[in-house]
Amino acid sequence: MLPFLERLLLRWEVYAPVRAGGGVEFTRLGRGGSICLDFPNSRIPPKSIFFPQKETMFRFEKDEQGFRVEPPRGLDRERILFGMRPCDVHAMALLDRVFGGGEFHDPYYLDKRKRSVIVTIGCNQPAATCFCSSTGSGPFSRTGADLFFTDIGESYVVDILTKKGGEVVEEGFLADASSEEVEKAERIASEAAKSLVSFVEVEGLEQSLDRMGESPFWARVSEKCTGCAICTFLCPTCHCFDMADEGGEFKGKRVRHWDSCLFPLFTQQASGHNPRPTGRERMRQRIMHKFNYFVKSFGEAACVGCGRCIIYCPVNFDIRKVIEGIKGQEVEWERSRKVDNRGGGFCARADETGERACGQSLSSHAGQGDRD
Ligand code: SF4
Ligand code: SF4
Repeated sequence: MLPFLERLLLRWEVYAPVRAGGGVEFTRLGRGGSICLDFPNSRIPPKSIFFPQKETMFRFEKDEQGFRVEPPRGLDRERILFGMRPCDVHAMALLDRVFGGGEFHDPYYLDKRKRSVIVTIGCNQPAATCFCSSTGSGPFSRTGADLFFTDIGESYVVDILTKKGGEVVEEGFLADASSEEVEKAERIASEAAKSLVSFVEVEGLEQSLDRMGESPFWARVSEKCTGCAICTFLCPTCHCFDMADEGGEFKGKRVRHWDSCLFPLFTQQASGHNPRPTGRERMRQRIMHKFNYFVKSFGEAACVGCGRCIIYCPVNFDIRKVIEGIKGQEVEWERSRKVDNRGGGFCARADETGERACGQSLSSHAGQGDRD
């Protein structure tokens, strides 16, 4: 472990990337623990430290005096999140708006968030699946960080970005960086930006999606999805949860746990009706929420280009191809809906190959019945 971190452990809870379960996970460090800084990105995003997969909201118990409700204990000590990648820090900024930026504030998330210091480490070698520069950050984006570390080989160059970050450094023992070290850090950042080969255009997606609600595109893109929801569980910006009471009638706890719009039961109503009955509607929801609804609510897309959903999808669903596929689709879809000069219209359902809209006049389908 870096001597810097050993020293911080005296005062803080420190979370850092460690090798675990065949990958890298953010874990609370103990003294003498070993960290891993040679990784493209952790499998589970560090959002789980602020918004755990399962979290107790309160405990309850009924006795002669009535019901008693006990809130969860707050943090014992302040936290340092060491080694977060810029894309994940960008994701935290988006979650801040969801959990605390509007009328309703989520105390469970916000308590942990306010009492944490974010130490970002730049990505010297972005992975082939990273496209963070397409979504508003980059491998050396400092946005949201309290401290920023650049690995220059023999040491780290540290940027102190906030007062909170400055307090952490006072606890450590950092030396002043030389001008050569600073120049080397800048060179590494510039080379990393150039090596990021994956780029997708998200500009204008919101408007394209506005016109694609019933497009056959959704049937096509959802075809191979198994609905496992790995992509949403591992996404640093996905934040849907469900709640349940555990225990008995007189004593128990209320918990919340991650949920996913890709599960059929997510929108199942008590009547049995499900407004998103197939994978087509559920995949449309996932993409619409990220690139349309979230943009309308918070001004930017709910995707930070981390690439996890691409790496871990069991059927190689690639969100970059979906983004590229959207372009032009709404034009084809609009065209297929125009009324033809015989007073009919063009069929916009997927053709037999599933590759494009059928495009035949509706009158030519008369009497063929519903292909769905
Ligand atoms: S990880 Fe892949 S298969 Fe699983 S729900 Fe997401 S897109 Fe579908
Ligand atoms: S949608 Fe995929 S690439 Fe975008 S932030 Fe989520 S996991 Fe990362």
